[in-house]
Amino acid sequence: MISSSQISRSSQVCLVCSMRGQSKFISPATVTIFSKHLSPAANRNLPVVWKSHRDYSYRTRFEGSLPAGWPAEASISGRLRLIILGTGWGSYSVLRCIDKQLYDVLVVSPRNHFLFTPLLASTTVGTLEFRSIIEPVRNTGFRDSAHFHLSYATSVDLAERSLQVTSVLRPSLSYTLQYDKLVIGVGAFSNTFGTPGVEENAFFLKEIQDARRIRNRILSNFELALQPGIGDAEISRLLQVVIVGGGPTGVEFGAELYDFIEQDVARLYKQQQGLVRVTLVESNQILSAFDARLRSYAEKKITQRKGFSLIQSSVTEVTPNSVKLQNGEVIPCGLVVWSTGLAPRQFTQAFDVEKNARGQIVTDGYLRVKSDPGGNAFALGDCADIENYSLPCTAQVAERQGRYLANFLNKGCPIQDMGMLAYIGRYEALTDTPMARLHGVPSWLLWRSAYLTRLGSWRLRMQVPVDWTKTLLFGRDISRF
Ligand SMILES: Cc1cc2nc3c(=O)[nH]c(=O)nc-3n(C[C@H](O)[C@H](O)[C@H](O)COP(=O)(O)OP(=O)(O)OC[C@H]3O[C@@H](n4cnc5c(N)ncnc54)[C@H](O)[C@@H]3O)c2cc1C
Repeated sequence: MISSSQISRSSQVCLVCSMRGQSKFISPATVTIFSKHLSPAANRNLPVVWKSHRDYSYRTRFEGSLPAGWPAEASISGRLRLIILGTGWGSYSVLRCIDKQLYDVLVVSPRNHFLFTPLLASTTVGTLEFRSIIEPVRNTGFRDSAHFHLSYATSVDLAERSLQVTSVLRPSLSYTLQYDKLVIGVGAFSNTFGTPGVEENAFFLKEIQDARRIRNRILSNFELALQPGIGDAEISRLLQVVIVGGGPTGVEFGAELYDFIEQDVARLYKQQQGLVRVTLVESNQILSAFDARLRSYAEKKITQRKGFSLIQSSVTEVTPNSVKLQNGEVIPCGLVVWSTGLAPRQFTQAFDVEKNARGQIVTDGYLRVKSDPGGNAFALGDCADIENYSLPCTAQVAERQGRYLANFLNKGCPIQDMGMLAYIGRYEALTDTPMARLHGVPSWLLWRSAYLTRLGSWRLRMQVPVDWTKTLLFGRDISRF
């Protein structure tokens, strides 16, 4: 049993301990062997050293009073351990901006890539390919390859600074991770408002797998509608798409669908072009966050399109073959895309801290979780809300918060405000920024160049224009697999 120990503050920290009366230095490598002998209860004034799951940066925790000059928190590497939950806009931004000389950075996420959500709708019809809008997070460079965990967090113990996580690849595998600082950026899920049949029958558009499923469903429906023995009523059902929710996601998906119908269905499924119907159902106004003039411009454009309609109503039920509206009307359809606001994820729901009425984690102005007395846990993006200073749930806000937080933790990342952009189809977009409000083709050029510059890496900045050019010259790839 270890009876005494000391930590030096040099970058390579060593433990000096005495085992069975013999004093010796042990390096981190040897700690692996001895760690099983260490017990927090052995001596409350000793550093407690432990090795967590596949993690070779050993941490110490002092349970009693510290000798003068010793760091209150330290890892054997001399760095604090920062755990980031998620690889979305907020978390990825922290990961890219954090100074890895100051922290051992661990990421826990069920997704091993960052997803550029503003271009997700473009992949549902093949304007862009799936891999063109995702960036593997391992490309950001981890100090140790075991610092990325393809797992999801299930609970946090703020007092113990520990985290319970479950492997995505083996759900029976759950383990605990210790942190010094924690960044929670788990995002949010689509809100179904408890509408019957949505979970089972509608498609969400949040992840790259969702876009793939939508693309396959569209192509399957077009192919099936051409096969013998399919009656007229069934054909018109297969070719009817219902989009529920008139926010940017719903509108942009409709815009991509419109381009696909105009440019590719006209070429490849000639007989079906006039039969395709797209209905956008919104209970209030579409694009409600945009300026009123831009909103009515988009509304006019959408309703002028052949086969497109806008219904102001709520959906009360979704079945495998139809949606039911509040007024009792039933729309038979082959695809329902559901995009009506946000609801907290299971992790956020289970996290026992102060939340707002929408179930978001309440933070102070520094993004610190309000219920964490130690001030070591931070939350940002769609899963969080700053007390008395609510910000919209957008990629831009999450990214800026991530930069701010990294800046707060290590000083240095600049923050820029870009405003709001939305594609509305046929080479037209809306731009709503403090500097300018634009619509039409110039706005579309701005939309494309702004997103091009915001793509996470040079690989994506090269891949996306290649996809755009391929689509322009040869049309979209309609292979179904
Ligand atoms: C199709 C679409 C288009 C959009 N277009 C725009 C746009 O044009 N402009 C704009 O500003 N905004 C847009 N948004 C909104 C924007 O994407 C979100 O506001 C933004 O993604 C929020 O960032 P976030 O970091 O909070 O969460 P997310 O980006 O959703 O990331 C959450 C991360 O947490 C991970 N995670 C989930 N559960 C756990 C867990 N238990 N443990 C660990 N990790 C977990 C997820 O896998 C993911 O990596 C769009 C959204 C969508 C879906």
